[in-house]
Formats: sequence, C-alpha cells, structure tokens
Amino acid sequence: SEQQYLCMGCGVKVQTENPEDLGYAPASALEKETIICQRCFRLKHYNEVQDVNLTDDDFLKILNEMGRTDALIVMIVDIFDFNGSWLPGLHRFVGHNKVLLVGNKVDLLPKSVKHNKLIHWMKHEAKELGLRPEEVFLVSAAKGVNVKETAAAIDELRNGKDVYVVGCTNVGKSTFINRIIKEVTGEADVITTSHFPGTTLDIIKIPLDDEKSLIDSPGIINHHQMAHFVDKKDLKIITPKKEIKPMVFQLNEGQTLFFGGLARFDYISGGRRSFVCYVSNELNIHRTKTENASELYEKHVGEMLTPPGSEQVETFPELVKQEFIIKEAKTDIVFSGLGWITVNEPGAKVAAYVPKGVQTLIRKSLI
Ligand code: GDP
Repeated sequence: SEQQYLCMGCGVKVQTENPEDLGYAPASALEKETIICQRCFRLKHYNEVQDVNLTDDDFLKILNEMGRTDALIVMIVDIFDFNGSWLPGLHRFVGHNKVLLVGNKVDLLPKSVKHNKLIHWMKHEAKELGLRPEEVFLVSAAKGVNVKETAAAIDELRNGKDVYVVGCTNVGKSTFINRIIKEVTGEADVITTSHFPGTTLDIIKIPLDDEKSLIDSPGIINHHQMAHFVDKKDLKIITPKKEIKPMVFQLNEGQTLFFGGLARFDYISGGRRSFVCYVSNELNIHRTKTENASELYEKHVGEMLTPPGSEQVETFPELVKQEFIIKEAKTDIVFSGLGWITVNEPGAKVAAYVPKGVQTLIRKSLI
C-alpha cells in the first residue's frame, strides 16, 4: 500500500495532488528528511499563513473544539458579500465564548457610507442570524485600515484567553492574520503550528505575549458563494478591487437587467422608479425588455453576456428565478457574491435570477 506521510509542523496527512487542499506538499518535499506541508513551509519561512480548503466535516470538528474551549472567537465576514460569507452554524458552537465580528474589505464601499451606521446594521443582521457579537469592527485588511484598533480590541476582549479566528474562504482571513502577525509579533520565528488533539487539522497558533495563542483555522467553503461557479479569470471581474461606483437605473415595469450572464433582474410592477446597483465596476450591465430577456440570454450568454465565457457556457448552471415583493423603504435585493440592488421606495414586485445553487435574498438596506 501507499506510504502515509504526516507533516512535522502540524500533523496533517500529506498529499501531493491538490495544492488548494489541506496537507498539500510538492512531491519533491517527500524526499526530504523532515516532511512539512506547504502551509507550514510558508509559515516557517515567510511568516505567512496560507488559506487551504476544508470539508464541512473537518470544519465541524474545529467548531466543536472551539465550543469546548474557553476562548475569544473572531469571525471575519466580507462586507461586500455579507450573507454569502456568513458562517451559518457558528452561533451553535460559540457556547459561553465572546465573539468579535470583523467586517473586512470596507475599502470597497462608497466613501459616503457611514461606518457607525454600517456597524449598527451588522449588529442587527448578526442578531437576526443568531449571533450576538460583543463588538463589531470594520477593517480593510488589504489596506491596513483599522487593523491596529481591531488588534487592540481583540487583546482586551480575550482577557488572557486564546483567540480563534474563523471565516469562510475568500473573506480575507489570511490577509487579516498576516497583518495582525506584523502588528503583534513584529519579527520572525515566533510562530508555531499545532493541531487539535484527536484531529489532523492543521490549526495555526500564533503565540501572544502571555503563553496564549491566536489560532487560525482553515477557511470553510460556503457552497452557495458565486465564487464557486466562475473560473479564476471571471472571479477577477466580479470581485471588486476598489471602491464600488453605484449605478442608478431608471426602469419601467417590464424591463430587465443582466449582470453579465451571471444574474438577471426583472422589474415586474410598481411604476417607473430607480434602482441602485452595487456590483463590481468591471461587470457589464445590460438592459432589455423582459419579454425578450429569456431569448436574449439563450442566444448571447457567453458572448455579449459574459461572464461566463464561451468555453464555460456548456457547464454553467441554469439561472433560477425568485420573486420578491418589496414592502419596506430602503431594501436590498442581494445576489450573493455578486452585489446588490437597492430599492428606495416600497411597493415594487421584482424577480431575481442567479445560477442554481447561489442565493438571492432581500434585506434591510446596508447603505
Ligand atoms: P482568505 O481565503 O479568507 O484567507 O482570503 P485572502 O486573504 O486570501 O483574500 C481573498 C481575496 O480578498 C484576495 O484577492 C485579497 O486580495 C482580497 N482581500 C483581502 N483583504 C481585502 C481588503 O481589505 N479589501 C479588498 N478590497 N480586498 C481584500
């Protein structure tokens, strides 16, 4: 039978097939005397945490362990994809532990957004989702905005305990932790890797100054994130890189907007009104009549309506429709992972379409 290797750093089973998954090491690493996985290698030599994917089962193990431990939990969400990046089960594992909620990528929101109002909104949404964070912080891990302040709050709230950092993939967890490492530890060689007894998950422990640790768990995949339905090139198009410029559309009943070929929005009834779109500036928005929309999509998805690209059209999931009646002023219609449309006045009937498997929802307006 095939020989099994374990990483000296974290104890994970080493595999050489999938660079994105847990325990990856290049085949050449198996010839070395001490075998370590790529994640530990990067940590050891570059002081950098790297994100790996984790199955739902593995993530459950981490959550269970976290619930049994006396610790501070730091949960990171992507503020641009708040609902899509939420860890739905987390509140069931929190136990008596305190939670600090971090909304990352605040640099993507229009400058006009009031941070206090957004923090209030996040607290409200978190509560609806079953979580009561002690504090909410808005940061840009990439730009280093508010990271120092958040690190200080973490240090105060943890009250001498360990810190678990959790978040689904792509929220910017690695970027955030790498910033914190620089803030907290400054220099090399202070980072150790470890693993939970009884599991083989590579949990990374960053020692804090009092024998306690900041524990980085691998990111969980949220299967309904739009990111999993597009290829790497298209992910670059739908992921905003800088401040989103809201696009305002005056629509009549019976008009439709296409967001590339990834999503569709029908305005069904409610009189002429404006819709404010918050999506990546690089995503093409196409307006048409609803009566022609399905035919247009059939004909032009993959060419005029991209992403997806022409080579992807064959395997791309069908768009599924969900209708919403907007009953309250200032409501967002959310296309998970792609952005949202804000409706200012109540009384509109609309339909939102996304690839089968992706989520649409309405919420109290974020902005
Ligand atoms: P992880 O999977 O949660 O560890 O996420 P990464 O740290 O690898 O980041 C995922 C993506 O989000 C990368 O493309 C980062 O460049 C980007 N990112 C991370 N932090 C920020 C941020 O504060 N602002 C913006 N605009 N992008 C960010």
